[in-house]
Amino acid sequence: MTHLIGVYGASGCGRGIMPLVRAEHPGATLVFIDDGQAPGSVNGHAITDWAGFLQRPARQRSVCLAIASGRVRETLAGKCDAAGVPLIGARAASVVEMDEVQIGEGACLSPFVTLTSNIRIGRAFHANLYSYIEHDCTVGDFVTLAPGAKVNGNVTLGDHSYIGSNAVIRQGLTIGHAAVVGMGAVVTRDVPPGVTVVGNPARILNKG
Ligand code: UDP
Repeated sequence: MTHLIGVYGASGCGRGIMPLVRAEHPGATLVFIDDGQAPGSVNGHAITDWAGFLQRPARQRSVCLAIASGRVRETLAGKCDAAGVPLIGARAASVVEMDEVQIGEGACLSPFVTLTSNIRIGRAFHANLYSYIEHDCTVGDFVTLAPGAKVNGNVTLGDHSYIGSNAVIRQGLTIGHAAVVGMGAVVTRDVPPGVTVVGNPARILNKG
């Protein structure tokens, strides 16, 4: 019997992460788990829902959370914990990791991600294509970096924060819990929890 790996999420994020998982686990059986898509197949892998994943015969079962929303990843991580299914991460061969980087379980590191030195990262982190984290940063749980996000030295990223494509964060700043940094933003001041900032210099977006 097989090691069954479910890549959770059969949409854009999952389709980018599946090939990384496949390269790292050549002997495993790989399926997509998706609760919102009809059964079928994507890129040669069956799509099943969570119940179907648990019912498939396997000697060992693992899940890679491949959904960009940190909130959704947290919910699904709780589901995996409750079912006793461990999280696994995914890492492209081109990832650069320097000295003393601690990364929590389930991190997905896309091609050309760089993590320099003395960095602490929490659970189910996502770093998309060409994003980086510079020295001495602290990154919470369920944090997401979109492609090209640039996090300079001594920055703190709160749990569930989301850094948009090509945004840049000045060194030493704190991005609050669940804050969102918009695409291309240039962040020059701390960002409070829960807000969205956009622009250059980045300012809080007033919704409504
Ligand atoms: N999804 C799921 N279970 C959940 C929440 C989301 O299976 O509890 C799936 C959803 O059906 C969708 C995917 O996760 O197919 C998320 O896709 P989306 O395009 O919204 O985002 P991305 O792929 O960029 O993370």
